[in-house]
Amino acid sequence: MELNINKKDLFNGTMYTFKNGWDTDNSPLTKTIQFYCTQDDFVVVVNDSISLFKTYSKAIKFLKLAVIDFEPITPDTLPSLKPRMILSTSSDAKTIKGQVHGYLTGILYLAPSDISGVNLCPFAGLAGCEVACLYTAGRGAFSNVQLARINKANLFNKDRELFIASLVYSIKKVIRDALKQGLIPVIRLNGTSDIQFEKIGLTVDGIQYENIMSVFPTVQFYDYTKIPTRSNIPANYDLTFSYSGVDTFQPVWQKALKNYDLKRFAVVFSNRDRMPAQFAEMPVVDGDSTDLRFLDKSNVVVGLYAKGKAKKDDSGFVVQV
Ligand code: SF4
Repeated sequence: MELNINKKDLFNGTMYTFKNGWDTDNSPLTKTIQFYCTQDDFVVVVNDSISLFKTYSKAIKFLKLAVIDFEPITPDTLPSLKPRMILSTSSDAKTIKGQVHGYLTGILYLAPSDISGVNLCPFAGLAGCEVACLYTAGRGAFSNVQLARINKANLFNKDRELFIASLVYSIKKVIRDALKQGLIPVIRLNGTSDIQFEKIGLTVDGIQYENIMSVFPTVQFYDYTKIPTRSNIPANYDLTFSYSGVDTFQPVWQKALKNYDLKRFAVVFSNRDRMPAQFAEMPVVDGDSTDLRFLDKSNVVVGLYAKGKAKKDDSGFVVQV
C-alpha cells in the first residue's frame, strides 16, 4: 500500500490515519493506524497500541510493516466514527475532593499551547506558562496521558463534527454517572487549554445552539482563562482569570482586572504555607481544597500552590513567596 506521507506536513502537525474497514454497527474493523510526530517522537498508534520512534526512518519502517495486507478505503466511503468519551472524571486529587462536596466534575484535557501543532492557549507565550504548565502536574507527567491529550487536540482541530458529537456524548454520560452516584454534574472544558468555547456554535439533533453551555443550560460549566477580553459569557459558565507574574503579561492582567465577565483571579504561589492574605488589594482564598471555583466569591484571589514543573519555575509565572 502507498503511504503518501508528506514529511513537511507531518512536521507541521498533520496526523495521518489509515483504516482498513468498518463493521456494520459503524465500529472500526481490525486495524486503525495513526502516524504523527510530537516535539520529541514519531508516534505510530496501531489500534490502541502506541509505539514511539526517535527517527523518521525507523517510524516509516515500522509503519510499512504495520500496513502489510492492509486494504484501505477512501475517505468518502467512510462512515463517521462513533462519538467517544473525551471527559475525565475523578482523575486527580482536586476533582476527587469535589466529590466530597457533592459534585462530579467532567474535565476535558487537551494538549496545551502548541504541543499538538495548533496553539490552543493564545496567551501562553505572553504569560510564560508553557513550561510550568499544569500539563506536567499529576497524571499529565506520563507520556501515554500526554499522547491521549494530543489525540483529543487533533480531534478538536481536525474533525470538529466528531469532536462536538463526542463532547455532547461525554457530557450526557457525566450527567448520568453523577445522577447514579447522587452527585451534581459540573463540566470544565479547558483542563489544559484556553479555548473560547462560548464562541463555538454547534448543531445537536438538528437544532442549532450558540455554544455547548446552551445545550445543557442546567449544568454548571467553569474554567480558568488567560484571555482578558472574554465576553458574552453564558450564565452557566463561570470564568476565573489566571494570573502570571511575567512582565509581558502585566498589560494583559490590567485589562483582565476591568473585565466583569471574569469573576475572580487565580494566582499560583511558590509556597503553600506562605501565601499572603492579600494580593492586588483583594483577599486571598485557598484554591487547593477543591477545584469548584464557581462556589468561590467574586473579586477574590484564589491562591494555588505550584505543582509539577511549576515548582521549579523561574520565568516569573509563579509568584515567589
Ligand atoms: S497554564 Fe493554561 S494557558 Fe498556560 S499553557 Fe497551560 S493550559 Fe495553556
